Amino acid sequence: MLEELKTEVCRANCELVAQGLVTLTFGNVSGIDRDQELVAIKPSGISYEDLLPEHIVIVDMDGNVVEGDLNPSSDTATHVALYRAFETIGGITHTHSTHATAFAQACRPIPCFGTTHADHFYGDIPVTRAMTQEEVEGDYEANTGAVIVERYADLDAAQHPAVLVAHHGPFVWATNAMKSVENAVALEEVAHSALLTLSLAPPQPPIPQFLLDKHFLRKHGSGAYYGQK
Ligand SMILES: [Zn+2]
Repeated sequence: MLEELKTEVCRANCELVAQGLVTLTFGNVSGIDRDQELVAIKPSGISYEDLLPEHIVIVDMDGNVVEGDLNPSSDTATHVALYRAFETIGGITHTHSTHATAFAQACRPIPCFGTTHADHFYGDIPVTRAMTQEEVEGDYEANTGAVIVERYADLDAAQHPAVLVAHHGPFVWATNAMKSVENAVALEEVAHSALLTLSLAPPQPPIPQFLLDKHFLRKHGSGAYYGQK
């Protein structure tokens, strides 16, 4: 069933590797058939070079396996939670791509500094709140979806198709699986350039005036007292 969707989701997962967005197996892409309310997702822990369309697992909107011999991605409950909450999206990509993950680990949104970012995302890339111990020790993957949905209470998922889960990494979506990979590529690019922009023009305030005065004036001018008379 859903052969076309499984083929697209397989190709989209392989594209993650081609784009350099994944290391080992830290990444997954899914796609949804909205008419049948079924999700096609990467199986858990399978290396990308061995991935074939027949390996793609089909799950229902509760994450139960409907077709497939392999276990679905461990992040399946997060994907399903997002499909349920954001009715216009058709594909989701999760990666631990380096620069986007750096912002996620710092629990900081990615500021919008330029047009590359603005072409893809309508302002800052939001970051979720940190998950509680109860949320992590409980139904972790479903709760990850819940904190994302909570962050979108006042945000439009179509205008903000990428989010950073605090201490974790990005989840990115689009109208289909392959486009969600493209948005993940764009996200990594804007995260990288934002980090470089911050390194060129850091929002770091200057040294306090009183500390500057203290150090300069104790060595220079009429009030100097440093060293020997
Ligand atoms: Zn992850």
